[in-house]
Amino acid sequence: MNFELTAQQVELRDAARKLANDVFKDKAARWDREEVFPEENKKLLCELGYLGLSIDEKYGGSGMGLVETYLVIEEIAKVDLATALIVHEQNVSPRIIATYGAEEMRQRLIPKIISGEVECSIAWTEPQAGSDGSAITTSATRDGDDYLINGQKVFTTYGDRADLNLVYARFGPSKGARGIGTILVPKDSPGLTVHKIPYKMGVRGASENELFFDNVRVPASNVVTPGDPENSRGFVAALTIYNSTRVGMGVMALGVAEGAFELARDYMLVRQQFGQRLADMQGLRWMMADMWIEIEAARSLCYRALAAIDAGKPDPCLSSVAKVHATEMAQKVTLTCQQMFGGYGYFGLLPLERMVRDVRMLTITGGTTQTQKNAIANHIFPG
Ligand SMILES: Cc1cc2nc3c(=O)[nH]c(=O)nc-3n(C[C@H](O)[C@H](O)[C@H](O)COP(=O)(O)OP(=O)(O)OC[C@H]3O[C@@H](n4cnc5c(N)ncnc54)[C@H](O)[C@@H]3O)c2cc1C
Repeated sequence: MNFELTAQQVELRDAARKLANDVFKDKAARWDREEVFPEENKKLLCELGYLGLSIDEKYGGSGMGLVETYLVIEEIAKVDLATALIVHEQNVSPRIIATYGAEEMRQRLIPKIISGEVECSIAWTEPQAGSDGSAITTSATRDGDDYLINGQKVFTTYGDRADLNLVYARFGPSKGARGIGTILVPKDSPGLTVHKIPYKMGVRGASENELFFDNVRVPASNVVTPGDPENSRGFVAALTIYNSTRVGMGVMALGVAEGAFELARDYMLVRQQFGQRLADMQGLRWMMADMWIEIEAARSLCYRALAAIDAGKPDPCLSSVAKVHATEMAQKVTLTCQQMFGGYGYFGLLPLERMVRDVRMLTITGGTTQTQKNAIANHIFPG
């Protein structure tokens, strides 16, 4: 058992840390206040190859593991979750295509996603099918060489800007998990309407959207699910990929918590009340120690879960444990760090107010805390 990072991992992490501090940190408030996508950050991330970190070199990626990929994402999340989310999301869609797509599709699309030429969204959740992802009703019906897509999606991140929506649809008349597959729906398809969902709490540099499909015609060659999609186990296959994305949510939460913690620690070293520094007050010192314990535990859980996936031995229960611990921890830690700033922490002039709002999404998306606990309980009580 080895918990040490390699020299290459340290170098990668330090480069991402420098980029985050030198370039992303001071701009983070702008994406939140103006509710605009960090376009210039994405351009830079593409130039640095960060969108292809976890993708095979034969498709233009760096061929690194998930541990390396999330070391980078964690550093960016410390200062700007909206920008970290770009690296996370745009590493996931090429991974789905690389795992399930036809070779021709992989070669055609993955290099374009990594370079930023093509952007993807992932559209699974529906108004009546959230936690119960197998209850989706959006349908893909064969019509000659095409499929006709009908239905509705909700909460699709980047759905308003994505060139391709990776849509989970029901291909056959069956119910439940069988027959669910994925198909790429281009943004300019006739019959596709997109509405941005307003009044978002945090991560305002990314938008969530409703997608309406009214007889949207898509070539059958856009199907990502291998084999006969009507009898596919695409849903089950998708869950395999989501083992890693849910740990990714945990790592992003870890990053935000660490960023908030560092700000609080630095402030406590200079702020004085009652003739002493906050850093010298026993009660506050213990609050910091408690947070440190939780952060260290989250880091160990997340990277152990990612290392298991990299080693080809994914542990779905550990992935759920890591997600729940890290995301719930980050909510508590960002709030406690905000408390260290007293009244100043309540205002948006400091990043704490944004961090508290931003991190809230991570206990919800990628599988809620409660559904992850169901999965953990099923592991404890099999059958
Ligand atoms: C910011 C944001 C970005 C998102 N991005 C995407 C995206 O890009 N693509 C996409 O497809 N989706 C996306 N989602 C959707 C997200 O995955 C869902 O919101 C999530 O899966 C929960 O579904 P729901 O909102 O319908 O809640 P529901 O499933 O209705 O759950 C409501 C509550 O009941 C609880 N609950 C549900 N079932 C159980 C159960 N069996 N036992 C105990 N408790 C239960 C839940 O934990 C929750 O607290 C995003 C959501 C957010 C907030």
